[in-house]
Parts: sequence; structure tokens; C-alpha cells
Amino acid sequence: MTDALRTEIASLGEFGLIDHLTRNNDTRQASTILSVGDDAAVIDHFGKQTVITTDLLLEGIHFDLAYTPIKHLGYKAVIVNISDIYAMNAIPTHITMSIGISNRFSVEALDEFYDGVYTACEKYNVDLVGGDTSSSQKGFVISVTAIGEVAPDQFVKRSGAKQGDLLCVSGDLGAAYVGLLFLEREKKIYLENPSIQPDLEGEAYVVGRLLKPEARKNIIEFLETQSITPTAMMDISDGLSSEILHICKQSNLGCILYEEKIPVAEETKNAAFKFELDPTACALSGGEDYELLFTIPQSDHDKIVLSEEISVIGYMTDAAEGAKIITKGNNTFPITAQGWDALKK
Ligand code: ADP
Ligand code: MG
Repeated sequence: MTDALRTEIASLGEFGLIDHLTRNNDTRQASTILSVGDDAAVIDHFGKQTVITTDLLLEGIHFDLAYTPIKHLGYKAVIVNISDIYAMNAIPTHITMSIGISNRFSVEALDEFYDGVYTACEKYNVDLVGGDTSSSQKGFVISVTAIGEVAPDQFVKRSGAKQGDLLCVSGDLGAAYVGLLFLEREKKIYLENPSIQPDLEGEAYVVGRLLKPEARKNIIEFLETQSITPTAMMDISDGLSSEILHICKQSNLGCILYEEKIPVAEETKNAAFKFELDPTACALSGGEDYELLFTIPQSDHDKIVLSEEISVIGYMTDAAEGAKIITKGNNTFPITAQGWDALKK
């Protein structure tokens, strides 16, 4: 198959490709002393502390190009990394982007990918300052490193929660997981019968939450304006129950979680019912929500409720109490990484 608009990567070569992909790369941060084009970037953080995180995204494991627009993939690759920076109560400032690509991809496809990368950089005020480019045998490999800054000793770990602290979550949960189920279902139908067009009517919200997640910059800004420093914080990439267990374990505490307080969007509930799934199970065990889970002292309660985007879902208890969920029917179950035990019945 030949495509009139297809430029082979080989026609540019590695250095030509890097120049091409970074030709319009902007610098926004005063701390960016030296960006793409040398052996390394130079960043001056002016007395702040530096936070660094890295993530590897592999085709077939973390994403499926059959239903992921490549521009969205570029956007999401940036978002999932800067979400980890916000989860430290830090502000992302820089990323590096490394890619492994085969000749399956055209320069135009990579342009779209970088379009998504630059869109995220602009929206979150982050500079792309470097990366690496290599050939891969088949699949698309993406590795992003994100760097952020935080005022000295203001970073927030998973281990700082205290007994009695309120357990809070931003936004709503479970949507991305249900979105994935729809996309997987449509892919299967398409593979069995390519003449059938995907039917995602009405599922824009859940599908959008999977394909185009956002990082919770606004929540970190809200906490700052209210002078609330969470005692522990992390982002939700693996599902609420797994993340709650991380905070409990690392803070050496138990918790009480109220099912009725877990925020789930109407769209997610309706979509989950189509798969005969319990929406709470999707929130607990789904994943890829990129919301923030954090604990605050009870004395901050009146400030936290000022944000409509934050839900108080429970509180921290003594480790001996264990991590527990109280269901809408007023039953108590231990929280497990797969959800709670009642779900398995
Ligand atoms: P080196 O030989 O030191 O690895 P490269 O030729 O790979 O240098 O990279 C040259 C410059 O381009 C460096 O600043 C590097 O960070 C940057 N770079 C390489 N690949 C990418 C990419 N995919 N996206 C953004 N910047 C890149
Ligand atoms: Mg290199």
C-alpha cells in the first residue's frame, strides 16, 4: 500500500527526525537553561526541590493503536507522568520523551503523536527538553520522564497519613475502565466483521476519560490557595482499592471507606450497567482515572468541602482495624486489591 501523504522515517534519518519533531519546540520555563540539541538539558530550580518520575508505555501492554488515536496517545503519555508529579504536591516543569519506532510508522504519524505531546506541554506549562529516538522491531515504545519542583520539604509522600485524617479523592472514578471495556468490545466486533462500524453512541464521557485523561493541576492549586497540605497523597492509576491499600500500608494505618461516598459519574453508572457491572466495582478495581487520592487533618474539613471536585470518602484508623469498606447496605468488608470480597460472589 502506498500513501501519498506518507513520509518514510528513513528519508529523514535519526537526526533529521529529531530535528523535525522538535523544530517548533517552545521554552516556557525560566528554569530551562538548555533544552533539546546538546548531550543533556540544563535546568536551574532556583532553590526549589526537584521531583522526578518516569514511565514506560509499551504497545500491546499499555495501549492498543487499533482504537487509540496516536495524537491522544502522545497527550496521554505526558499526562500520566505529570500526574505523578502533582501527586507529590509538586508542579511539573520539564519532560523528556524517548521513543522506539519501527518503519510501520510514518513521519506524519509521529507528527500527530508529537502534536499531542506539545498540546499537553502547552496546557500544563511544561517544557520538552530532550529524549531519545531508537528503532524498535515492531511495537511502539514510549518512555517519558517528568521533572517538577516543590518548595523545600513541601512534597507529600504516601506514608504521612495520621489516624483520624480524612480520606479524600478528586473527580469521579471508574469511567476509564468502562471506556476500555467499550473499546475492547468494539474492537472484537470489528475484527470479526470489519463492515460493522464502531458503536460508541452515548459513551463519549467514559471513552474520553480513557483516551484523553487530564492531570489534576487544579486540585493542587486549590489545596495551595486553601493552605491545605495533604498528609499523604498519590494518583489513582490502578483503581481506588489498590491505592488506598498503598496509603494504609505505607502510613501503617487502617481506614474506613464509605461506598456511598465514592464519586462515580452518572455516565459511568449507566455504562457499567450495560456490562452488568457494579459501578462501585469499576471505581475500586478499574484504573487509569488519574485522580488524586489524599488524606488531610480533620481540621481542614471546612476548607476541603469548598471544592465541588473533592469528595471525602472515609477516614484513617489504627492499623489493627484494617482497611475496610462499609457498603450502601451497611455491611463491612475488608478492602482487597481486587475490590472487596463481596464482589467475587
Ligand atoms: P545522544 O547521542 O546524546 O543520545 P541524540 O542525537 O539522541 O543525542 O539527541 C540529540 C538531542 O535531541 C538531545 O538533546 C536529545 O535529548 C534530543 N532528542 C532525541 N530524541 C528526541 C525525541 N524523540 N524527542 C525529543 N527530543 C529528543
Ligand atoms: Mg540519543
